[in-house]
Amino acid sequence: MLLSHKYATALPETVSKVTPQTLDGIALQLHNTDLAKQFNLPAGKELMTAIFSPDGKLAANAVAQKYGGHQFGHWNPQLGDGRGLLLGEVTDENGQSFDLHLKGAGQTPYSRHADGRAVLRSTLREYIASEALHHLGIPTSRALCLMTSQHSILREQLEPGAMMIRMAPSHLRFGHFEYYFHSRQPDILDKLMNYTLANHLPECRQQANPHKALLTAITLRTARMIALWQAHGFVHGVMNTDNMSIHGITFDYGPYAFLEHFKSDAVFNHSDYEGRYAFDRQPGIALWNLNALAHTFTDYLSTDDIRACLARFEPTFLSQYRHQMFSRMGLDDNDDNEPCLQQWLALLEQNTLDYTHSFRQLATADPNEKHTPLRDHVIDREAFDNWWQNYRQRRISSSQDKSKQLLTTLNPAVIPRTHYLQNAIDAAEQGDFGPAEALIAAIKQPFEDNPATRDFQQPGKQSSEVSLSCSS
Ligand code: AMP
Ligand code: MG
Ligand code: MG
Repeated sequence: MLLSHKYATALPETVSKVTPQTLDGIALQLHNTDLAKQFNLPAGKELMTAIFSPDGKLAANAVAQKYGGHQFGHWNPQLGDGRGLLLGEVTDENGQSFDLHLKGAGQTPYSRHADGRAVLRSTLREYIASEALHHLGIPTSRALCLMTSQHSILREQLEPGAMMIRMAPSHLRFGHFEYYFHSRQPDILDKLMNYTLANHLPECRQQANPHKALLTAITLRTARMIALWQAHGFVHGVMNTDNMSIHGITFDYGPYAFLEHFKSDAVFNHSDYEGRYAFDRQPGIALWNLNALAHTFTDYLSTDDIRACLARFEPTFLSQYRHQMFSRMGLDDNDDNEPCLQQWLALLEQNTLDYTHSFRQLATADPNEKHTPLRDHVIDREAFDNWWQNYRQRRISSSQDKSKQLLTTLNPAVIPRTHYLQNAIDAAEQGDFGPAEALIAAIKQPFEDNPATRDFQQPGKQSSEVSLSCSS
């Protein structure tokens, strides 16, 4: 297997060479065979040897990347891969390059006082979420494998340590650009811009103004990703600029969750006291983050050009979001249908209905019927009936193909619900990966209602407002 080191070679000033440190009793537990096949990567024991044996070729040129970031709105220059290592890049059969990134392999120059490790809970959560988003059609990094150990790691309590390898077109974050801009190293920033243009967005290089094309491309990709998050009820939880990918892919999963009962301002990160990263603030925060990135383009673009790039965010987000939502409801994408969508969301919220489940029920409801079983879950029946009469007429007269079959391919039956994740984590911590594997098998076919998915469709208990830890 050929591993290249394009990034470390082109930008040696931005990385530190680090040897991955193994953990006692390390054992491969989950391996993404689809992904491994796509890149012709070794599997099982062979993969472990390639990383951790003394002459392991996969880890020979591992580096930690330097970056900064705005965390909860505050600039922090002291970030970087504190527990992640870029092993190198691999190329798929279409010639597209992807990073191999090992998480949890010990301290780096950017660890500050932390241990460089990751716990099983958070690596398993990332593994499952990234596979889930991928199969829902939401751009994301992907997990290649997960390894457990006999090591205990101290977080809020002692937890089993683990490692994972993930893949992404690159691990370039908004925070990479911000760091070299704010630390006044314009030569490195320039190399970073050129590297990005050459290796990741070559189509921008053909444009009259490549930097404008680059900022525009990142803006549009981010807007599209956020539209998909909002349409599927995904809450990232820590949208700091160091967790934002320039590719517009979901990445650096922390205390994420999918909405269950619909609450537009739901917050899951228990360190997010002000609700900065609440569900309904994600589009605004994405634009805030793009604005932070845009600052780093001030030596390249006029203020008017920067404004023009950022101005693309809102209309792109709104049109993509609306397209997603109307498609899921079997309605035509037009202004006329907007109140019907808003009233539907209000009904979900007022009745604390499960977001994913309700859309699935709507997809399978028969618009020719005067009543639908959804009605039974609503307190104000009259309000629901009024809405339903209005909705079903719109759906009947819509030009979309509104067959149940089509709508169920847009409205998942399965998302990685927190209670199933927690079951999988609890079992895995006892050495049993059966529940994790069953959940992974289900989230890989989220639109199917079959024996593999049937055990993973129930909403969690509404009474327990979920609160997730950021310490991972
Ligand atoms: P995160 O909140 O995971 O996005 O991480 C924020 C910063 O803290 C990044 O620079 C990470 O590399 C670093 N970091 C998080 N956890 C650890 C850890 N256990 N050891 C070293 N660095 C860490
Ligand atoms: Mg991070
Ligand atoms: Mg992280």
